[in-house]
Order: sequence, then structure tokens, then C-alpha cells
Amino acid sequence: MELTIPILQEKIKEWKGCVLCKTANAVLGEGNFHADVMFIGEAPGQKEDELGRPFVGAAGKFLDELLQSIELKREDVYISNVVKYRPPNNRDPLPEEKEQCMPWLMMEIAIIQPKVIVPLGRHALQHFFQKLSMTEAHGKPQKITDTVTIFPIYHPAAALHNGNLRQALFDDFRALRVFLDGKNLATDS
Ligand code: URA
Repeated sequence: MELTIPILQEKIKEWKGCVLCKTANAVLGEGNFHADVMFIGEAPGQKEDELGRPFVGAAGKFLDELLQSIELKREDVYISNVVKYRPPNNRDPLPEEKEQCMPWLMMEIAIIQPKVIVPLGRHALQHFFQKLSMTEAHGKPQKITDTVTIFPIYHPAAALHNGNLRQALFDDFRALRVFLDGKNLATDS
């Protein structure tokens, strides 16, 4: 049977193989299953846990604003997280929690086959580049295979705590739009 996102959704709901899934609801990605562009955040927060959807709280509202600023809609892209369950009190996910959720993310990437992956924040960036800091990597596309480019951007929540990052995020999204246009990707927005 071909693995699809809805099948993966069912599997992850049934899964009881990690500590976090005993206290939180599964939040898989959502959006266009054939998207050219995939955004990867850190982990669900309280609102995401309640609604079972990624990026629907305060950081999600800002992500919507950033997407709108470059004329992308949520339906044009796919949005997911490194960790699929809310860590207690929104603490950073632990290394073992990221490790336990990694197969889900790998399967999502394998199904969606995005051409551009946007890690939002350092946890997602470390999934691809363990040693790279967001300060040096943000806004700079890194081709990792013939068909896939990683385009790191700060996590939207970072700008909610640090106003200086707000403009950096808008600038990086603008740079993402220029990059996508140059490659003729995500053009039917
Ligand atoms: N922050 C994340 O990293 N992901 C979400 O889904 C919400 C907030």
C-alpha cells in the first residue's frame, strides 16, 4: 500500500512509542501534499495541541502574515514540525524526543517530496545541519541534493520575543520569494 499523509496521520494517532504522546495529542503536518515548499517548525504549543493542527497559535498568526507578505497561502505549502507532540509547558524538545519523532518527519518529507525545505528555527535547522547556527545560516539557500534546497529562516516565535528579528523574518521571506521565482516554484499562488 502506498504511504500517504492521511495514512501517516492514522499511524501517528495510534503510536504510543514515546514519552510525549502519553501527555499530548499528535499534531502532524498539513497543507498541500504536492507542495514545492515545506516549512518545518519546532514542536506544537498549547493551541496546536488543542486543535491538532500546526502553527495555529500566536507564532502561527505571524507565520500567516509572513506567508501573505510573499503571496503564499497555507494551502500552497506544507507545514509541519520536528516534534509532533507538545513538550510540557512549551519547553524545548529534548534530543531523545527529536530522535523519536524523526521517522515521522522523514516519512512526511519522502511523501511530499518538496523542492525547498524551510527550517523555521534552530531545532529544524539542526535536523539538516547539526553544526550550523541560525545566525549564520538564515536567508541563505543551501542545495543538499540535485532537487532539494534548504532555506533556513528564524522561528516566527523568536520575533514575538525579540522585535529586532521581525524585520529579519520579513527580509528572509522576501529572499525566499525571489529564490522561488528564480526557480519557477510555487508560482500558482
Ligand atoms: N511553534 C512551532 O514550532 N510549531 C508549531 O506548530 C507552533 C508553534
